[in-house]
Amino acid sequence: MKKNGIRTAGNRGTRGPGDSSKRMKILKFGGTSVGSAERMRALVKLINDGVPKIVVLSAMSGTTNALVEIAEALYAKEKDRAAGLAAALEKKYAAVAAELYAGKKAGEKAGRLLASRFGQLRTLAAGKFTGKKEREVLALGELLSTALFHYLLEEKGVDSVLLPALEFMRIDKNEEPDMGYIEAKAGSELAKHPGKSLFITQGYICRNAAGETDNLKRGGSDYTATILGAAIRAEEIQIWTDIDGMHNNDPRVVEGTRPIAELSFDEAAELAYFGAKILHPTCILPAQLRNIPVRLLNTMKPEARGTLITGKSAGDQIKAVAAKDGITAIKIKSGRMLLAYGFLRAVFEIFERYKTPIDMITTSEVAVSLTIDNRANLDAIVAELKGFCRVEVDGGLTIICVVGSFTAEKEGYALRIFEALKAIPIRMISYGGSENNVSVLVETGLKRKALLALHKGLF
Ligand code: ADP
Ligand code: ASP
Ligand code: MG
Repeated sequence: MKKNGIRTAGNRGTRGPGDSSKRMKILKFGGTSVGSAERMRALVKLINDGVPKIVVLSAMSGTTNALVEIAEALYAKEKDRAAGLAAALEKKYAAVAAELYAGKKAGEKAGRLLASRFGQLRTLAAGKFTGKKEREVLALGELLSTALFHYLLEEKGVDSVLLPALEFMRIDKNEEPDMGYIEAKAGSELAKHPGKSLFITQGYICRNAAGETDNLKRGGSDYTATILGAAIRAEEIQIWTDIDGMHNNDPRVVEGTRPIAELSFDEAAELAYFGAKILHPTCILPAQLRNIPVRLLNTMKPEARGTLITGKSAGDQIKAVAAKDGITAIKIKSGRMLLAYGFLRAVFEIFERYKTPIDMITTSEVAVSLTIDNRANLDAIVAELKGFCRVEVDGGLTIICVVGSFTAEKEGYALRIFEALKAIPIRMISYGGSENNVSVLVETGLKRKALLALHKGLF
């Protein structure tokens, strides 16, 4: 079976190249986990236990944001502002490098690395700025963090190999992971290093179908970890971050949220897609298709239990709430032919042609309402829809998603959810699409109130 380029048959398990008796693990560390010299030193201790593994690193926290800002300044032709931001970032890295290493040798190596990568940044900043250049700028963060960390391992005498992600991570023309290629190339890259059991690689970055440097979108290091885990049939994929697992509500908004010990792949995928920032929106799928457990762990509290995500569902209950901002609702009205065969197909074809996914959908006798989060082609979509129906567009909305395992036969879930939300005006409701999700659409200004109300009412 093939789904999204990922073959699901078989779970043979690639042996760790360095240890023929064990399968490898993937350990991904996010920005805060490599965010300072101190954190990087703590990481060496955490990973140096002899278990065969590939360590996937994000850029140091703040770096990708800074690179995005530099790219924005370059698009706006504000070269001086871009140069200032780049100089500030370089200074920050020089300070990290100065603090990170005990000896001269590693320090000098880091100095050469910074000179080369920031030189590259200055070259990219010269002349007309393009999308291709932007993607090369964005790749610098992960290239820097992995090299700096690798020098630290070398200095400490920890045997490791720096694997270049650009040699094996690739997306196809639909921007989906090219699993056949990744599997073959990751395998051959690993095979170049027989006897080794500790590999470091960059999250987030990849090549696209044209062979250019590209990325897996913001938060994409999680996706690198699960794609790579699926490709090598890892024993387990660990996502290490700054919180002790998936919480039952957004901890940035609601106080007193709690970690969830176990989630099914389906539940975790819904939460990730609908805004739980701890996971990249689509990173669960590769692990799910190969049935590889995903564990969410806290680098600041390695002993905490975290969240284990597997194919098992822990029974009927409401597990968590998440919210996804930046949603646009499109109401399509046609008295003429809503119930006619082919109407919805005509509508969906337009979204398909503009590669714009639909998140929520509801229908009535005379109208269809649906939501999108990508407005890039909104004007063109609306113009085409207007060819055969009336269209209303409404922005500034948020999807609030209640996730758990609830089947339609179990009574009471809807009542509990809507009782909790009784003071919140609801724009759309989606219930019954899956056994794991009840979603409502509200104005973004009401998100906080809705999340608090659900927390009080459900947990
Ligand atoms: P990393 O840089 O390690 O990838 P992220 O910032 O991407 O870390 O993800 C971790 C953050 O996700 C947490 O600090 C937390 O603020 C946020 N978050 C949002 N929703 C949730 C949730 N339901 N459970 C846990 N964390 C969440
Ligand atoms: N560095 C990238 C970002 O900030 C990828 C990641 O951290 O997962 O989005
Ligand atoms: Mg992240």
